Amino acid sequence: MRILLVEDDDRLASALITALTRHGHGVVRTGMGVDALRLAGGVDFVLLDLGLPDMDGLEALRRVRRVSAVPIIVVTARTQERDVLRGLRSGADDYLVKPFRTAELMARMEAVVRRGTRPMPARDQVVTVGDVRIDLETRKVTVAGLPVTLTRREFDVLALLAREPGVVRGREEILDAVWGDPLLSASRSLDVHVAGLRAKTGRPGLVVTLRGTGYRLGTAG
Ligand code: CA
Repeated sequence: MRILLVEDDDRLASALITALTRHGHGVVRTGMGVDALRLAGGVDFVLLDLGLPDMDGLEALRRVRRVSAVPIIVVTARTQERDVLRGLRSGADDYLVKPFRTAELMARMEAVVRRGTRPMPARDQVVTVGDVRIDLETRKVTVAGLPVTLTRREFDVLALLAREPGVVRGREEILDAVWGDPLLSASRSLDVHVAGLRAKTGRPGLVVTLRGTGYRLGTAG
């Protein structure tokens, strides 16, 4: 598997990389939560330390979960049950409390993989809006049966809205989830991507703009 290791402790990280590599895994390592959001899309498994220098690990976890169903084990020095429960509720598949033996880590990872992929927040993998069909799993969109080619981010924006039709997503929330950056500097990008979605699908009503609030999935008008 390709594993993303989010761990700011160099000694622990290098010990884990050695162990994981010995078990035949490829490891991408970062010490920053912000990188986790960027890199989680390209890996098969995430090991996430909750104590990160740039953001709360639980926040990083929630952000990754908004856009990905990748298996995640949180690694924590926090022994408080409340934090562990928050981690599991925020979308972790399992947790390990430091210090732990690498054999224990391997066993937990195997168990998570064996259990299979967690369902995405959407009840259905395919969301249909009029004649627009959005497949959240295969990332394919069709309009009236014909495929529409969207960029990765156009699809991510659409998928975020489609996962919970009717729910309004704030601009910052979308920027955060899709770009990993809630700052206004990326705001124009969001407008451009929404315009692209409307133009490419030929369904301007598919994404509804709520002035000053955000966006939600609309109708295929
Ligand atoms: Ca740490």
